[in-house]
Amino acid sequence: MRDRQRTIQIADFELPRGSVSIEQLMAMPRTGWDHLRREINLRRQQDRSQPLAKCRLCEGGVYIRSQATQTGHVPMYAHFPEASKDCPWYDGGNLRPDDARAAQYQGHQESALHRRLCMRLEELAKLDSRCLESSVNTYLRPAIHARGRWPDVYAVFDGLGRFALEVQLSKPFAPEIAARHLHYEAEGVKLVWIFHALEDPMPQGFHDVVTMQRGNAFIFDEEAEFASIERGTIVLKCLLEDGQGGWLLPRLVALDDLQTGSGRSVFLEDRRSDLLEAWCKKERDHWWKALREARQLKPDWPFYSDALASAWEALALDVPGLPAWEAEFWAVRSDRARAHTAMLFAILSSVAHSAEKGAPVLHITKFKGENAVLQMLNSKLMSADFRHCGRLIEVFLSQTALSPLLVVESLTRKLAEAADGDVQIGVEHPLWQAMARLFPEVFNGVVRAELQDLGRLPRWALPAGML
Ligand SMILES: [Zn+2]
Repeated sequence: MRDRQRTIQIADFELPRGSVSIEQLMAMPRTGWDHLRREINLRRQQDRSQPLAKCRLCEGGVYIRSQATQTGHVPMYAHFPEASKDCPWYDGGNLRPDDARAAQYQGHQESALHRRLCMRLEELAKLDSRCLESSVNTYLRPAIHARGRWPDVYAVFDGLGRFALEVQLSKPFAPEIAARHLHYEAEGVKLVWIFHALEDPMPQGFHDVVTMQRGNAFIFDEEAEFASIERGTIVLKCLLEDGQGGWLLPRLVALDDLQTGSGRSVFLEDRRSDLLEAWCKKERDHWWKALREARQLKPDWPFYSDALASAWEALALDVPGLPAWEAEFWAVRSDRARAHTAMLFAILSSVAHSAEKGAPVLHITKFKGENAVLQMLNSKLMSADFRHCGRLIEVFLSQTALSPLLVVESLTRKLAEAADGDVQIGVEHPLWQAMARLFPEVFNGVVRAELQDLGRLPRWALPAGML
């Protein structure tokens, strides 16, 4: 009998994401793996031959299957249907989208309600004096794709643009969602997914739609219908994620209120990018504040000030190996690991701030002038203290606007000497992980890629060629 526990243990994503184990995947917040799922499905639609994520063993394309459990959805890896059945991690028959879709569309009652909602939305579109054209369920001539699409409701508003409104009652399929977004984006049509009600818990397909709409859900219910009639245009009830797994109070919005300028997504407020950015900055701000206080308390030895204690403790919650490394560091170097960490933080912050500003901003050493960052790095790499961080500093630099420094001969030499002179810390090392939590924009491949997809990677974290 087939071992039901069998599952893909590790998937290799295209860089910069890299490998993501099943444990890492399952430990991610829902927004994180929903985003990965979305990107995998978009890629699948764009180019089947280049899957974004591959099984470590058979190198077949994998996707993220959302498994419903009593406490919510759990992400699992699964092979795409064409995968080799010989893979030791092969997980048995996948439901083929076409079969599943056929089964799903058999709900006749559902289709009656669907029909009524579509007709009503089109009538409401026509109430708006700006409406130039509208249709229900009719073929929209595809300019690019061979396969045509029938938007539930299609409406063109003078000054506002062309809209496809998809009324979704049953759970949509991830490949279908991705395909529609790509299709309408190519056609210059704004796509809005509309639910009739939000189920609790939401089916995965609804989560996929909400992810695509950056944490926004649109509902057309009686209240929205009433408001639409009153205002003479389509009004939807908009629910925004509150960032804690719930929703903010619903708001009634017209199509005019929506942001339509961000590529393939239409939304009222981008609830995902802001939260992700805030998460990226959280620990860094903590250290930054502590360091400022430390400089006031101990101007000559700020890195050894007790003001850093709370920032260190907060970081240790995210990096479990930190306390053990602190003890080891003391035993080997007779120095304080937290002071060492604070100095490395000051070194990397100097690089980040200088990259952001386009001119040197140093938080450690007293070098001045246009070569100050280079001199600071060279002097730090020369001292025995930071030689073990050569590789880390090199990786950091390579992902910032100061990446051209890596071809400067003096620094290349210092980095080579550091590598020869001391054992380099790697990604598993607590100090590396601490820096990864403080600068996730650079060191956390999954977060870096998500910010990149959203066009929200900060200036300083864009390598010189990417600006
Ligand atoms: Zn496999």
